[in-house]
Amino acid sequence: MKFDITTIVPAPRVAHLPHVVIIGGGASGVLMAAHLLRDPQAAVRVSVIEGRHMLGCGVAYSTSQPSHLLNTRVANMSAYADDPEHFGRWLSNRGEETTGACFVSRGTYGAYMTDLLAPLASDGRLRCLRATCLRLAPTDRGVAAHLDDGQVIPADAAVLATGHALPEPDPESLVLGAWQVAPPPPRDGRVVIIGSGLSMIDQAGALLAAGHQGEIVAISRRAQLPRVHAPGQPLRISMAEVPLGAPVSALMSWLRKLAQRAEQHGGTWRDAVDGLRPHLRRLWRDLPQAERARFLRHAAPWWEVHRHRLPPESAAPIERALRSGQMRLLAGRFEGASGTRGRVTVLWRPRGRDSSQSLEAVRVIDCRGILRDPHEHATPLIADLLGSGRARIDPLRLGLDVAPCWTLPDAPILAFASSVPPPVPHSGKSRPFPRYGNRSACWQSSFRRTSCGRQDNLPCWSLPENI
Ligand SMILES: Cc1cc2nc3c(=O)[nH]c(=O)nc-3n(C[C@H](O)[C@H](O)[C@H](O)COP(=O)(O)OP(=O)(O)OC[C@H]3O[C@@H](n4cnc5c(N)ncnc54)[C@H](O)[C@@H]3O)c2cc1C
Repeated sequence: MKFDITTIVPAPRVAHLPHVVIIGGGASGVLMAAHLLRDPQAAVRVSVIEGRHMLGCGVAYSTSQPSHLLNTRVANMSAYADDPEHFGRWLSNRGEETTGACFVSRGTYGAYMTDLLAPLASDGRLRCLRATCLRLAPTDRGVAAHLDDGQVIPADAAVLATGHALPEPDPESLVLGAWQVAPPPPRDGRVVIIGSGLSMIDQAGALLAAGHQGEIVAISRRAQLPRVHAPGQPLRISMAEVPLGAPVSALMSWLRKLAQRAEQHGGTWRDAVDGLRPHLRRLWRDLPQAERARFLRHAAPWWEVHRHRLPPESAAPIERALRSGQMRLLAGRFEGASGTRGRVTVLWRPRGRDSSQSLEAVRVIDCRGILRDPHEHATPLIADLLGSGRARIDPLRLGLDVAPCWTLPDAPILAFASSVPPPVPHSGKSRPFPRYGNRSACWQSSFRRTSCGRQDNLPCWSLPENI
């Protein structure tokens, strides 16, 4: 049973403590709350505002489909970097026999996220509200969260953990969304999936697991599948070795040499990719804007299929279906769908060709992923932040433009994309770059504007000394 977020109520005796309001109770919001409250001495109280009925799950971890696995091993999914066994112990306490090398279902991870908050709810420093935040406005004290039920929650600081925008399901559309609930398609019919990434794997895997007999066709621009995990040992790469600020072409050739080094030592390219992970944030930060744009244009699709890999258990049925011919992977561009539900004509243009082709399908599923344009697909809260000038979109339109410690310009609001981890709070002095999972984050020690050592023109807000 999922955590009922209405059961956690505020305790008046902690009302004097500095207050952090977290908007969004997906994995990022829950991890942030857990890190803030984990130390029983931490003088802080936290409100998590979540619009859905589940905490810690978001889209990724609310699936109940057992074939939807985490793409990261148990050993790398602990909520606490200083306790890497935490997730493994939680699994074992539930009677699940796993090792650190296992990949468990995403639904299981959602339950772990949910359980993370339960022990922290007893001392009154945590409250969770089921509501949608429509506006965050600066106040003399800090910031106020305006909710859709009319409540206004004052706080010293706010954290945006609102995740990615997803396409709205369109009941009239001939093309189903990847996260849209629908009855199974006719068993023998052809299903066309647009996209060949992890969401396509989810959809194709679920169809195959349900005994679908018809053809499954995945269409994507480059017809690249996510690569498969294999046992390995990440290369130890020091920061001094990383060619910070080098052009993308030089970076890629350096990475290829790293992969060769890994192979010479009996490993695989995965050891190079994984060895680089601790340096990714710095690498990106030091990349000139034009090179960032070049990376997104040319290298990102290749990087992503190597970086976000598939568990072997998820890859096996797909590989079998490709070998048997039940599944095909086509390189090309989806151009549209016509017909009626259950009898759809898909128009697509093969890569490098001038003319389009068509395919008949009983179902078409759009697995092109999250909506990336933060302006066009902004929720009311983000639209308000942008419209009021309190936030702006980063030059590459990847998300909100933030200072290096993730703050917005005119209010103590920290913004996290899902790829950005929550800072690790503590009850004492500032601790630079603490670690969460396999990612690092910074948490400043005073609640005021600081220069934060950054090189852009965004001011940096940080939390009080006693948090
Ligand atoms: C299908 C899928 C599979 C994935 N698999 C993995 C994986 O295996 N391993 C991995 O590491 N990562 C995976 N990811 C990446 C994943 O997005 C992150 O790991 C993580 O779940 C993101 O969490 P989040 O809290 O940032 O965002 P979300 O999970 O999107 O949560 C954001 C939450 O904020 C709430 N919210 C938004 N706006 C408001 C508002 N104004 N007021 C109140 N509430 C609001 C939403 O209801 C939502 O619950 C996957 C992603 C997807 C989509």
